[in-house]
Amino acid sequence: MLEQAEQLLQDYFGYSSFKKGQKEIIESILTGNNTLGIMPTGGGKSICFQIPALCLSGVTLVISPLISLMKDQIDSLNALEVEATFINSSLSNLEIKERMAKTCEGQYDLLYIAPERLQSKEFISQLQASDISLIAVDESHCISSWGHDFRPSYRLIPKLITSLSNQPVVTAFTATATKEVRKDISELLRIEEESIYVTGFDRPNLKFNLISGDNKKDFIAEYVEVNQDDAGIIYAATRKEVDQLTSFLKQKGFSVGKYHAGLGGQERREVQEKFIFDELKIIVATNAFGMGIDKSNVRYVIHHNLPQTLEDYYQEAGRAGRDGEPGECILLFHPADIRLPKFFIEKSNLTPQFKKRRYQQLHKMIDYCYTTKCLRGFILNYFDNQQLINDCDNCSNCNEEQELIDITTEAQKILSCVYKTEQRFGVTTVACVLKGSKRQKILKLGFDQLSTYGLLKENTIKEIKDLINFLIAEGYISLTNSKYPVTKLTAKAKPVLAGREEVYYKVRKKIKRITSQNSLFSILREFRMKLAKKEDLPPYAIFHDSTLKQMTEQKPITKEAMLEIKGVGPIKFQRYGKFFLEKIKEFAVQETARQETATTTDTPSHLVSYNLLKTGKSLSEIANLRELALTTVQSHMVRSLQEGFDLNLDLFVSHKNRDLIKNKIKEIGAERLKPLKEALPEEISYFQIKLILSAKEEYLEL
Ligand code: ADP
Repeated sequence: MLEQAEQLLQDYFGYSSFKKGQKEIIESILTGNNTLGIMPTGGGKSICFQIPALCLSGVTLVISPLISLMKDQIDSLNALEVEATFINSSLSNLEIKERMAKTCEGQYDLLYIAPERLQSKEFISQLQASDISLIAVDESHCISSWGHDFRPSYRLIPKLITSLSNQPVVTAFTATATKEVRKDISELLRIEEESIYVTGFDRPNLKFNLISGDNKKDFIAEYVEVNQDDAGIIYAATRKEVDQLTSFLKQKGFSVGKYHAGLGGQERREVQEKFIFDELKIIVATNAFGMGIDKSNVRYVIHHNLPQTLEDYYQEAGRAGRDGEPGECILLFHPADIRLPKFFIEKSNLTPQFKKRRYQQLHKMIDYCYTTKCLRGFILNYFDNQQLINDCDNCSNCNEEQELIDITTEAQKILSCVYKTEQRFGVTTVACVLKGSKRQKILKLGFDQLSTYGLLKENTIKEIKDLINFLIAEGYISLTNSKYPVTKLTAKAKPVLAGREEVYYKVRKKIKRITSQNSLFSILREFRMKLAKKEDLPPYAIFHDSTLKQMTEQKPITKEAMLEIKGVGPIKFQRYGKFFLEKIKEFAVQETARQETATTTDTPSHLVSYNLLKTGKSLSEIANLRELALTTVQSHMVRSLQEGFDLNLDLFVSHKNRDLIKNKIKEIGAERLKPLKEALPEEISYFQIKLILSAKEEYLEL
């Protein structure tokens, strides 16, 4: 069975080996054990049930929380020519009837449904009449009331299972299960402890950045500018903030859309589609966006506000880099941000017990913002991972990339202004006093008489506010929890005012691009986009970015070489891969032409082939690329050697054959080639004889 699974992995999905945990999970399912897989986002959960679905005789019922996710997965499966479909509220009754009839007839390998469907008695009886061999419960933490996304309909799954006459195997997956959630899932779905596979939560390709005290809008504008070719999600806490940020970025000319629960269903669907189809690069959204977004090439996720829990944060941030390519997760933090999630919890309808738990979770989230230790280590430790990381070298705490500027004088001016305004005013008023503003409010309060009035008049109000916010983030000033937060000095401020301590402002280093620019990658990405439109598929259902990236690096120009690329199996090659092969060939020819003109305008043809050999291409690849006969390329090699160019003979003639040829030359001479060829073993070619004849004696000895 496992051999069959490995074959399917190669033939359908184009991968030569399993990812961590996949093999064990698939083996456990195929042995007939109810199985739980706890794998990080991007860990490859889908394949864990899709391959068994292809091995088993009946249909695999996949229970998945969101319609968009289903459609994406079905698109990807259909691109692989797998018989799969979904049933949800977006279909008409007639369509549902037809699909269910086909299910009962056993025409599908996979049927995706939303859990709410299980409320229908008719639907349950149709499932009872079908041959279900496997039930896969995706996002299975939704079954637990401890989870952050509890969905009551998930509780109908155990009932469905017991109602089926031939007990199917049950498998469940999640990325974010804490101990309590794990216990709930395994009890409710009857999964034994030894059939729980935890592959860890680590996402090594993600870089975690915590930016505190920075001006958030400035940061975002700079960031999306630098990374404008890449897709990203920006999460904000409220609809209003989403609206504001979207207009701000639109005005700056970025390709941006917004998503929140206040928009109409149609509008939301359109934005989501555009994002998935790479037509919109950035999406600004509340946390209503994303669950079930299967887009694999999201390169960054920025949180403009503080999430309520680390579970939420890791799940949302984890939408970056699902294809395993580098991704960045940035949390923009300001101490004043703590108020909003507190307010949400306070206003919620949660029981006191759950409220308390929410507060505990929020405190962990806040601790994350203040820790000076490894951010990845902090997250992994929270999720109860055994494998402790203290120095990941891929988070902002491990590789602190900041330059320090002494701002002690400015800090003293600000702190003393907070003191002089009697610790009764907000950031804006303090900034106005320091600027020396003539605003009515300032004058009325008599603040123009203060000794701190106009002390920072050279700076703009925005710069002063940024500095005050920095001092808040660093804990020199605190803000009250009131409706209009008021600035107060903390104990940390005293030694600064007394001149005993200095304050340093951390200047952020320039933002770097996440992905490097590459012209072949852009060509392939554009071509994929066209193909996707024609096929009405999301681009990544054709090939993931990681697959395109590997194509760019290896530039395969033969079918065999193309099949070596991860993500290109025989089926995908036939459907799409062969067209990409042509594109790469075209590019390589143009590149050669460019190189030719770059060196001299008329590099001799044999040297063009010689140069290509030096880049690691084989003779047949060169022939293929230049559309020349193999014998012509061989003659190019002989000529290059005759002209004294260095050639590694080991590539073409074994030492044994070299000796044979040399001895024969000594024996019968080399006036004519034909007798020499006939006197040698058949497998020795004219090309090899010519090479030996052309090589200088001392060269041959090497
Ligand atoms: P999850 O649902 O766990 O977030 P997916 O099932 O979407 O993850 O898989 C994440 C990515 O990993 C996809 O791009 C998928 O094609 C890829 N993948 C899955 N299995 C393998 C494998 N064995 N080798 C290489 N890539 C894989």
